[in-house]
Amino acid sequence: MIRLWQGGLGAAAGLAAMLASACENLPEMSLPALGPPPICADAGLRVETSFPAAGRHDCAIAPGGAIVVSVDHEPAVTEGINPSPWYAFKLNSDTPREATITLDYTDYTHRYAPWIKRGGTAWQKLPEASLALNERKTRATIKMPLSQGETYIAAQPISPAGDNTGWTRNALSGRGFTETKYGASREGRDLVGFVGGGGIEVIVALTRQHPPETTGQEAYRGFVERLMKRDDARANAFRARHRMILAPMPNPDGVDGGNWRLNSGGVDLNRDWGQFTQPETKALSDWIVAQAGDRRVVAMMDFHSTDRTVIYAPPLESPSPTIGFLPQLKQAFDTRLKSPPEWSYSHNPAGGTSKGWALEALKAPGITVELWDQISLEDARALGAAAADAMIDYFAR
Ligand SMILES: [Zn+2]
Repeated sequence: MIRLWQGGLGAAAGLAAMLASACENLPEMSLPALGPPPICADAGLRVETSFPAAGRHDCAIAPGGAIVVSVDHEPAVTEGINPSPWYAFKLNSDTPREATITLDYTDYTHRYAPWIKRGGTAWQKLPEASLALNERKTRATIKMPLSQGETYIAAQPISPAGDNTGWTRNALSGRGFTETKYGASREGRDLVGFVGGGGIEVIVALTRQHPPETTGQEAYRGFVERLMKRDDARANAFRARHRMILAPMPNPDGVDGGNWRLNSGGVDLNRDWGQFTQPETKALSDWIVAQAGDRRVVAMMDFHSTDRTVIYAPPLESPSPTIGFLPQLKQAFDTRLKSPPEWSYSHNPAGGTSKGWALEALKAPGITVELWDQISLEDARALGAAAADAMIDYFAR
C-alpha cells in the first residue's frame, strides 16, 4: 500500500510538472489535492493516520457508514505494564452526518476519554454521554455529529515530539538558556535539552518518557513557567544559584510513533535507567551527569500520568543531603491544591526508573510526579507551579 501511494504521488507529480510546463501562461491550474492515503475509506468517509503521534490503527467501514478502528500497541520486548491504549486518527467526511465510531481494543480495555478537534478550533473533551462501553470494556463506541471535512479524535489532545521542545524553547527564550542536541534516538530523531541558570547547585526536570502522558507534560509546563516567571527576591536568588537541566522530549520515536509506552526499541525507557540499553536513556543520563559536573544535584523531577495523581518519592531517611525538600514539597501541595496528591515512598535501586537512578547516581531525591489522566489542564499546571514554588522557597538562600 505504501509503494502504491508513492507510485501514485510520483505519477501525479510528473503529470503536474508536465501540465505546468505546457500551460505556463495560464493563470489557474486545478489538480486533484494530493495527500497520503486513508487507512480505510467508504460511504463518503475516510480514516487517516499519516501525521506525527497518530495511533497504530487499522479500520473498516460498514456499508451504512459505521466505522471500526482497531487500537494496537507497539512491539514490546517484554510483556507490558500499565497498558495505555493510545488512539489518534483523523476522520474526513464528504458530508455532515451522525457518525458511529467503535474503538476495538482486542484484549485491552478502554482508558482515555475521547477528545476531538475540528478545523482550526481548540481540542474539546467529548461529552460522556457520547460514549458507550461493552461489558468487558474492550470496545468503546462513540456516537457524534460529524461536520463536513476533517475531525481529529484522540485519547488526549495530540502533542507530537516537536511540540514540547518548541514550547520549552519559547518559555526559556531570552533567559540565557543553551539548547543542545545531546544525542539521537534509535530512529535518528534529535534528542534536545536545555541548560541555564546559575552554577552552584543543579535541578533536573523531564517528561514524556511515556508517550501518551500529556497531563504530566502539562504539569512540567506549569513547573518550568513558574521557575522562569516568578519575580521576587527568592526566585531571583534561586535562578542565580541553580543550574536548570531540562529534557522536554526524551522519547521522540515513541511519541511520534503513537506508542502506548515504549521507545522504538520496544523498551520502557523508565525501566532502563541503570542498564542503559537504549540510546535515549544512555544519552540523557550521560548528558545530565556531564552538565551537573561537580555541582550538587538537589532534586530531579520526572513528570508522568496515570489513573490518579500520586507522587512517588524516596523514603525520608534516604542518604541524600537534600531529602528534606520532600516534606516542603508535600506541604506546598497540601496547602495550595484543591485535590492534593497521595504520596508513596520507596526506593528500588534495580528498578530502572529515573527516580531510583537519581538517588543512586546523583544522591538527589528523584521524584516521579504522576498526574491523573483526566485532570484539567489548569489543575495540572497548578501542581507544576506549586512544585516550582516549593523548590524556590526551600533552596533559595
Ligand atoms: Zn509514565
